[in-house]
Amino acid sequence: MRRVRDRIASACDRARRAPDSVKLVAVTKSVGIYTIRELLELGVTDVGESYVQELVRRAAMIREAIERIPLSGSLSAGAAVEPKWHLIGHLQRNKARSVMPWVTMIHSLDSLRLAEDLSSGAEKAGRRLDVLLQVNAGEESQKFGVPVAAATHMAEQIRSLPALRLCGLMCMAPLIDDQQRLRRIFVRVRELFEEIQTERLAGPAFEQLSMGMTQDFEIAIEEGATIVRVGSALFEGLEPSAKAPPA
Ligand SMILES: *Cc1c(COP(=O)(O)O)cnc(C)c1O
Repeated sequence: MRRVRDRIASACDRARRAPDSVKLVAVTKSVGIYTIRELLELGVTDVGESYVQELVRRAAMIREAIERIPLSGSLSAGAAVEPKWHLIGHLQRNKARSVMPWVTMIHSLDSLRLAEDLSSGAEKAGRRLDVLLQVNAGEESQKFGVPVAAATHMAEQIRSLPALRLCGLMCMAPLIDDQQRLRRIFVRVRELFEEIQTERLAGPAFEQLSMGMTQDFEIAIEEGATIVRVGSALFEGLEPSAKAPPA
């Protein structure tokens, strides 16, 4: 945790950016509920999960645990605060409803039909939902995300949906070692992001660039990421038993 925060701060420093201009979303898909609670005690405020079912299950468990802490409890303050939950993995349209009560931000919006479903679901729930448009900027065929060429048009269309707030773009680079290629991908997404901003195709909330994970978060920060989604690097050195999700 400390190490990841230090690495984020150094990358901000190199890019001459303020350290608080980058938000860490701790990706917890590979760890259990106790580890998540430890992260909260260490001050993590934002947690990311890939699967709807896991997000809902864990968010409910954390809420229940927090409600059980007596007010006079000796636990640190952080442990008593619910995190914001981010859905970072692909969302199937038929799961949009179940995630609605729990999720703060969906990073993986990748079709207009899903956007329409989410907007009407959010409307019914009486809320506004923050979303990021996932862009497929890898130089090879990837499963999810809209192609770069389709992103501006999609951003405009999402703008007309009343209960969604389009907050920016998300991208997931392919798992590769080639730093130059990773950097090119992030630059491309940042340029797209800036284009959507300067041409005012999205609303004023369009400010977030979610890119970078364990393999590449420092490059992503150097290229403008405002949100990094880091999992494995947070849990290096953990006992395997602590990593295993509970049965
Ligand atoms: C798992 C995952 C991450 C985090 O990956 P690490 O390599 O563990 O940091 C980030 N983003 C998405 C979309 C993921 O599925």
